[in-house]
Amino acid sequence: KLENATAKAELGRASWRLFHTMMARFPETPTADESLALKTYIQLFARLYPCGDCASHFQKLLKKYPPQTSGRNAAAGWACFVHNEVNKRLKKEQFDCNNIGDFYDCGCGEEGGAKKE
Ligand code: FAD
Repeated sequence: KLENATAKAELGRASWRLFHTMMARFPETPTADESLALKTYIQLFARLYPCGDCASHFQKLLKKYPPQTSGRNAAAGWACFVHNEVNKRLKKEQFDCNNIGDFYDCGCGEEGGAKKE
């Protein structure tokens, strides 16, 4: 089957959106379990990402720049950085990671504090 660049780009945009929004909602001071959950999620995301070439490139990036999951700022900053590394490879513009703060809105409003099971 032919490669479909439009579908690939659409998948990329949707995936990055979820990825960064997840970081923006990650606790500022996570428990060890929450940090491990995010780290595991990122590794599995890289392994299972549907575009195989993208996935293998991204896995190499994770080896070079291991996921930072000690808290929201670290995680959001790390995610912005690795997305910029992908942007570089694809010859796209660099995103200013200082502007990441309010950029990704989950639309879920205030849900009454941190969620705990
Ligand atoms: P995208 O890169 O999709 O970004 C979407 C929006 O996010 C931008 O418009 C901007 O508002 C914002 N943004 C941009 N940079 C950042 C940043 N650093 N931090 C936060 N927000 C930012 N495509 C390929 O062709 N080959 C690949 O190998 C490849 N690998 C990929 C690996 C992964 C893990 C993912 C998720 C996607 C990959 N893609 C790949 C898709 C590619 O990254 C783009 O998503 C796609 O080309 C669409 O690009 P875009 O210009 O619309 O912006």
